[in-house]
Parts: sequence; structure tokens; C-alpha cells
Amino acid sequence: MPLYEYACRDCGAKFEVLQRMGADGTGVACPKCGGQQVAKQLSTFASTVASSGSTMPCGASSASACGNSGFS
Ligand SMILES: [Zn+2]
Repeated sequence: MPLYEYACRDCGAKFEVLQRMGADGTGVACPKCGGQQVAKQLSTFASTVASSGSTMPCGASSASACGNSGFS
């Protein structure tokens, strides 16, 4: 299950939430102020992939070498 990063529109706090792939921000509340006006940020995983091309997030050259069995 991927980790999504959210930013609170009310207090500006950033926090991470484990959610199913493709989930939206419905029901996500800021842990700091309790506000539900939150904006999903680019996940750490997505930004890592985007910046490293074909390299896996762990730094290995393939998913098997990475020991990653999938993202489900
Ligand atoms: Zn907040």
C-alpha cells in the first residue's frame, strides 16, 4: 500500500497517510488541527521514480534485486 503525503490547507502541516492505490483525500483529516481541507502532494515514491529514471526506489537495478514484491 503506498504512502501518500498530504498538506493541510488550514495550518500548513504536512503528514503521510497509508492508503490504497488511487485513493483520494476523502476522510483524511489533519492530525495537527483536525481540518479536512487537505491537499494530496506528490508521493515520495513517485518523486523518487521520476528523478531516478529506470532505477528502482531502493537503488537496485531491478525489482527482483530490490526485494520488492509489488505495491499491492
Ligand atoms: Zn491542519
